[in-house]
Order: sequence, then C-alpha cells, then structure tokens
Amino acid sequence: MKKYIAAIGIFLFFLFAMVVLGVVSASASQMQIYVNGKEVHPAARPQVINQHVFIPVSFVKDQMGMRVAWDGKLRCVTIRNNNKKIVLTVNSKIAKVDGTAKKLDEAPVMLQGRTYLPFRIVGELTGTEAGWLKETDSLVFNSPVHIVIKGTPVTAKVYRTNKGYFVTAKDIAAATGYKMKQKSASLLFIKGTDVRTLHPVNGKGGFATVDNQWVIPLAFVDELVKGSGSWNADKSIYRVDKPNLNSRSISPSGPNKPAPSNMIKPVVHNPSTSQDSILTETNDEPAPSPLLPAVPLSGKEKVTIVVDAGHGGKDTGAIGVNDTREKDFTLAVVLKLADDLKKEPKFNVILTRDGDTYPTLTDRVKIANDAPADLFISVHANSGPPSANGTETYYYADQSKGYADTVHAHLVQVTGFTDRKVKTADFYVIKNTKMPSILVEVGFITNADNNREMMDDSFQQKVADGIYQGIVEYCQDN
Ligand SMILES: [Zn+2]
Repeated sequence: MKKYIAAIGIFLFFLFAMVVLGVVSASASQMQIYVNGKEVHPAARPQVINQHVFIPVSFVKDQMGMRVAWDGKLRCVTIRNNNKKIVLTVNSKIAKVDGTAKKLDEAPVMLQGRTYLPFRIVGELTGTEAGWLKETDSLVFNSPVHIVIKGTPVTAKVYRTNKGYFVTAKDIAAATGYKMKQKSASLLFIKGTDVRTLHPVNGKGGFATVDNQWVIPLAFVDELVKGSGSWNADKSIYRVDKPNLNSRSISPSGPNKPAPSNMIKPVVHNPSTSQDSILTETNDEPAPSPLLPAVPLSGKEKVTIVVDAGHGGKDTGAIGVNDTREKDFTLAVVLKLADDLKKEPKFNVILTRDGDTYPTLTDRVKIANDAPADLFISVHANSGPPSANGTETYYYADQSKGYADTVHAHLVQVTGFTDRKVKTADFYVIKNTKMPSILVEVGFITNADNNREMMDDSFQQKVADGIYQGIVEYCQDN
C-alpha cells in the first residue's frame, strides 16, 4: 500500500513537472489552431521560441475577439476582456492585471516589428482555456466550460478540439474518487475492483495530451459516474447526473471495461503535420488487415525487409534542440542500416525513401505489403518536454512482439539512453503492414543530450548497427 501511495506521489510529481514545463516541439507552420473548437488560420502565425508558443497581438484581437491597444512608446499591450484589463510589456516579466502586478514565466517579445505574447499567459490572464494538444500539434483556445457532477461543480479545464471536448483527467479522477495509473500506452481509472481503461486518442480509445497533461473525453466522465451528461444552451456548462442509482453494479465478468465505442471518433489528420503523420492520414482508415501467416525466416533463402525513414520532404517531423529535424535523422540512420543489410546476401532491402521526399503513409504501407516484405521497420526520433529522453520501440500486432523485443534490446544497448521499453500503439505504418512491423523512436531530439548524440555520424552508425544486429538475430531465431 505504501508503495502504491509512493507510486502515486511520484506520478503526481511528474505530472506536475510536465505541466509546469508545458513545452511544445512543433514548428509554427505545422501548428493547427482552434478557437472554441473551430480551426482558424490567422495571417500572422504563432511562433515557437525556445520551445514555447507565442501568439501575435493581432491574434488576441482578431481570433480571440478581445480589445487590444498598443502603446509604441512604452512598448506595452493592453488587453481588455470582459471587465479585466491586462497590461503586458515587451521584455518584461511583470504583467499588470487590473492594476495588480503579476510575475510571468516568460516575457512578451518583439520579432520583426511585431509583438508576440506567451500564449499560456494570455490564456491564464484572460480567463481562456489555452492549451497545446500534442496529438494533433494544435493550439487550443476556448472560453471556459464549467463541469457539474451530480450537482457539485468540479474544478477542471475543458478543451474544445476538432476531436471533441476533453477535460483534465486528474481533476475528474479526484472528483470521482478514481485513482489514475498509466499502463503501457493506456490510462487506467481504478476504484476498488472497478477498472476502466482508456487508450490514446490516436488508438482505439480516447485520452489525449494537453500541455503534457492527460485529458479525457467528456463522454468518459459520464461513464465514470455512470451518469449522463447534458449541456446548457450556450455550451458553457456540462452537467453529469445519475440517471439510475441502481446501475452502480460492477460487472462480475472482469474488472476491465473497454471504453464505449461511440467515444471512438475518427481522427482527422493533416498529413503535412509532423509527428502525427506517423499515426494516420485519413479519417476513413481501413480496418486492420488480416495478417499474413508467419513464415520461418531462418529457412528462407531471401528475407525482404522494408526500411522506412520517418517523415521527409514537406514533413520535417519533430524539430529538435538547435532546430535539428527528425526527417534528416531518420534518413541518415536508414541509409546506414540499408548499407549494413545489403552486405548480407540473405537480405533484400527496400527503402520507402532514400532522399528528402515524402511518400505518404499509404505509399509506405503499400510498398511493404506489395513487396511483400517479410519484415518492416520505421525509424523515428521522439519529441517531448526537454527532460524527456530515451529509446522506445512500438509494435501493433502480437506477431510483431518478438521482433520488437529483439531489435529493442540491441537498440537500447547501442544508444545507451534510458530504456523506455517496448510498447504497443496503432501507428498507421505498423498497423496496416501485414508482416511483423515495428517503429523505433531512437531518442528525443528535443532533449539536449539525446539530440547531441543523435546528430553525430558515428552514433547514427552505432544505431544502424544495433538495429541490424537485432534484425539478424530475429531472422536466425524465427
Ligand atoms: Zn516521427
């Protein structure tokens, strides 16, 4: 029990640390922006400066509909929202809110004659929910939504996105008496023997990440309290009431209750946005294809391997420390891996790209399925808060687990980074390829230490050699 409490404590600490960091890793051009759930396309784009998002003053006026005045002499911006008056000054970490000084983490900046404000501060000071939705590289602003559960108002943040409404998970857990726990890629809500599982929104279920904090769909709140939710007229209040007090029974068939399927919304992705383009490209994603029967690779004269360098061309992938680009890293590693594999006559190597081009995810899958490949590997670099680091490997189908385990063991050994373990996810390329398929996230280019090594040619060679060793071993044993 003590251990359990300690684990929760550590978890909360990290959650807190992540929220405070609240950084992003996308470039401004990839960003989608939602105001009250609607996508907007401001002429002056937000900027990412030192991994923090800044919005131009014109955005506050035109998109958020607030009154804004600019004093060129004092270089200060006055924002009026409802009855609030906020004064922000370029390069000053002191803001005035209704005449009272407030210390800011980041100061407004001037770039090419335009003033930019830290978006989080604008959200906070104007009473707007402002957040960064990691799954779609989106900036989300909306007027606050209040949640009332069984007559009791709950302190929680609600974000409106193109994927629906999400609410901060920890606040709902606290209000409903559930404990939250992360288990591989899923989020568990536990109350006694009642265990609810939520998968990532890009997967089959529904939680997402805003400002590195978990958010869950509003519909899931209904499920947690076994109630039904309804909106007031202007959608500023969401009430969950219990329709039937007797329905609070626990299924005897087992503690795991999957999220209801009506919560599973198709995910619409812009294929030109970076990190997410590895997930899915269309909203009419095909159902997982039946897997080809496993063929013993050790007995095969030729083993065909499709090697996929993540991103490319118009899709830079994640942007790292010193503006390093994921697409360059993945290509460098993949070219070295292909050289290794080509030295072994047993391997027939097919690259999805060997230059700075952008094959679509559908193209990449088609190349592998048409070959048909015996093995598929997609190479990526990860992104996250500056402190996030380490190596992880993903697979989708059970038949790929052994392949993932084997390659991961070699990969972790050569990177020397934190072992973030083998995980499951339904990234498009590993979900829709029919052979054993994995996706490796070698390290975090948003982490200074990982990034430094990952940009080094001899490190990239080590990574390629490690993956190669993993593939060789897997082919011998299977
Ligand atoms: Zn990637």
